[in-house]
Amino acid sequence: MSTVFEMIIEGKIPSTKLYEDDVCIAILDIAPKAKGHTLVISKKVYPTISEAPDEVIAHMFSIVRKIDGKMRKELKAEGTNVFINNSPASGQEVPHLHIHVIPRYSSDGLSFFPPSMDYGDGEMAEYGKKLCL
Ligand code: AMP
Repeated sequence: MSTVFEMIIEGKIPSTKLYEDDVCIAILDIAPKAKGHTLVISKKVYPTISEAPDEVIAHMFSIVRKIDGKMRKELKAEGTNVFINNSPASGQEVPHLHIHVIPRYSSDGLSFFPPSMDYGDGEMAEYGKKLCL
């Protein structure tokens, strides 16, 4: 079954398209966290960033940077949040790689992240070992 983003790419359902090339498209999110909330979506379907080739990811982030610039210039955004939900456990609803770009203002009151937590004794070093590349 096609993802909603494949149907958008194929023109089967409408979208507000901001950009398109051979690798990705950028559209406005239909349920924005802030007005202008944009999705940069790969044309090929990769369920998460783990399956996507490095060059696709690099290209998509180059488009994200341009969108960040447009948001700052045209929407007078003071910043942006840029993120990817990878797999349902992270909140991913559409299993087709996409990068969220959300314009931010110091007074907008939005919050996407829970409060910070503490490590137990020695735990930070353990995580450091496990995640060391
Ligand atoms: P995620 O939870 O990271 O998978 O995000 C999926 C995003 O796709 C959500 O922010 C939705 O609002 C957005 N979305 C779903 N359907 C559409 C659509 N037809 N057009 C634009 N955005 C959509």
